[in-house]
Amino acid sequence: MAIVGAGYTGLWTAYYLKLAEPSLRIVVLEREMAGFGASGRNGGWVTGFFSGPPRLYEGRGGRDGFLALQRAMFATVDEVGRVLERHRIDADFIKGGQLRVALNGAQAVRLRERVNRARELGLGERDLRALDATELEQRVRVAGARCATFSPHAARIHPGKLLGGLAGVVQDLGVWIHEDTPVTEVRPHEALTPAGRVRARWVVQATEGYTAGLRGLERALVPINSSMIITAPLAPSAWRRIGWQGGEVLGDGAHVYVYLQRTDDGRIAIGGRGVPYRFGSRTGGAGDTAPATVASLRERLVAMFPAAAQVEIDHAWSGVLGVSRDWGVSVDAHPALGLAWAGGYVGEGVAAANLAGRTLRDLLLARPSSLTQLPWVGRRPRRWEPEPLRWAGIRATYALYRRADRREGRSGRPSRLARCVDAATGRR
Ligand SMILES: Cc1cc2nc3c(=O)[nH]c(=O)nc-3n(C[C@H](O)[C@H](O)[C@H](O)COP(=O)(O)OP(=O)(O)OC[C@H]3O[C@@H](n4cnc5c(N)ncnc54)[C@H](O)[C@@H]3O)c2cc1C
Repeated sequence: MAIVGAGYTGLWTAYYLKLAEPSLRIVVLEREMAGFGASGRNGGWVTGFFSGPPRLYEGRGGRDGFLALQRAMFATVDEVGRVLERHRIDADFIKGGQLRVALNGAQAVRLRERVNRARELGLGERDLRALDATELEQRVRVAGARCATFSPHAARIHPGKLLGGLAGVVQDLGVWIHEDTPVTEVRPHEALTPAGRVRARWVVQATEGYTAGLRGLERALVPINSSMIITAPLAPSAWRRIGWQGGEVLGDGAHVYVYLQRTDDGRIAIGGRGVPYRFGSRTGGAGDTAPATVASLRERLVAMFPAAAQVEIDHAWSGVLGVSRDWGVSVDAHPALGLAWAGGYVGEGVAAANLAGRTLRDLLLARPSSLTQLPWVGRRPRRWEPEPLRWAGIRATYALYRRADRREGRSGRPSRLARCVDAATGRR
C-alpha cells in the first residue's frame, strides 16, 4: 500500500491497516515532513461534529444514515483518547466538551436554531444543549456572551504531540514514512514521484488541503486558509477571572467564527479565517501570517477575554484545510483502480480523519462493516469552478459573511445577507 501524505488521514489509515494486517507493506510518501500540513498546526479540537449540511448525508440512508455517521463521529472522540492511552502518547488530551458562545442577539438566535435542528435530526440533550449566561459563566467567563451551546462530544489535544506520537507508533509497527518525497500524480495502482514510480495494490491520497497540487485534481478540493495565534501563559490571576478549568474547546457563533482552546500550559490559542483563499489554489507554503490577521485575532481574543489584554502573543501561523464544492466530507475507494482517498473535512478533520482511517481500512481490506455503510462513503462532489471564478466566488463569500457579522453586531438580528450566502454556496 502507498499512502500519499503524512497527516492524520494518512497516518491513521496506516495505523489501522497495519493493526488489522501486520504483514502488509505500507509506505507513506510525504512531500515535506510528517505533520507539515494542517495536522501539525490545527486548533486541537477533537470534535465529534463534522462538516457539510445534514441533507448531504440524509440523501444516502435518510435520517438514519446521517445519525449513524453522527454517532460514529461522537464515538471517534473516545477512540482517539483510547489510542493515545494505549500507546502512552501524551498529547494533552482532555475530553471537556465543546462550547459555542453567542456574542450578540443574532448569534443567540442561530444557536437556538442549531439546538432545535439537532432535536429534529434525532440528537438529544446529552448530545447538544443550550446553556444560559449563568450556566456558561460557571464554566468560562466570556465578555458579552448571551448564552451558549454545549456538547460533551469533543476533546482538546496538542496537535503536534498527537501527530508526533502517532507517527512514532506507525513507524514502530513497521510503516515506512518517506519524507521529502513529493508525489506529482496518482494513477491506478501507482504514485509518481520525481525519483520514480511507486506501484502498489492501493494508493491512498491523503493530501486534503494540498490536493490541488496533484495532476488532474486541481479542482477537487480548494485549500481554505486558517490562521492562529497563541498567547504567552496567562497569569494565575487572569485565569481566576476567566475560569475555563474544564478543558472545553470554545468557539463563537459568528459566520466567520473563531475557535479557541486553553492549552495545557495555560495559554490561549485562537484561530480564524485570515486571508481565506489564494488565487490558483496556492497553499501559502510555510504558513506566514499577515500582520492584519494577527491583529484581528488578537482583537477578538481580547474582546472575549479582557483579562488577556496585556499578555504577549508568542506565535502566529497559518495552514490550509480542504473544502469540496458541496462542503461535505467524503471517503472513497475504487477497487478496480486501486485508488482511495478521504478528505474535505473543512475545519473539522482531527477526529474525522480517525474515522476516515478506520473506514479506509475496511474498504481496502474488502471487509464490509458498519463503517463502510456510512453515508460519507462513495460521495463524489462536483468539481470547483475554474479560475478566476473560484477565486472571485470564495473571496466574495467571506467578504459577505464578514459584512453580515458586522451588521449582526450592530443590529442584533440574524442577517438576511448571510442566509442568502448560505443558500448560494450550499453551506447550510
Ligand atoms: C490552522 C488550522 C486549524 C485547524 N483546526 C482544527 C481543529 O481545531 N479541529 C479540527 O477538527 N480540524 C481543524 N483543522 C482541520 C484539520 O487540521 C485537518 O482537517 C486535518 O488535519 C487534515 O488532515 P490530513 O491528514 O487529511 O491533511 P494534512 O494534515 O494537511 O496532511 C496532508 C499531508 O500531505 C502532504 N502532501 C501534500 N501534497 C503532497 C504531495 N503531492 N506529495 C506528497 N505529500 C503531499 C502534506 O505535506 C501534508 O503533510 C484545522 C486546520 C488548520 C489549517
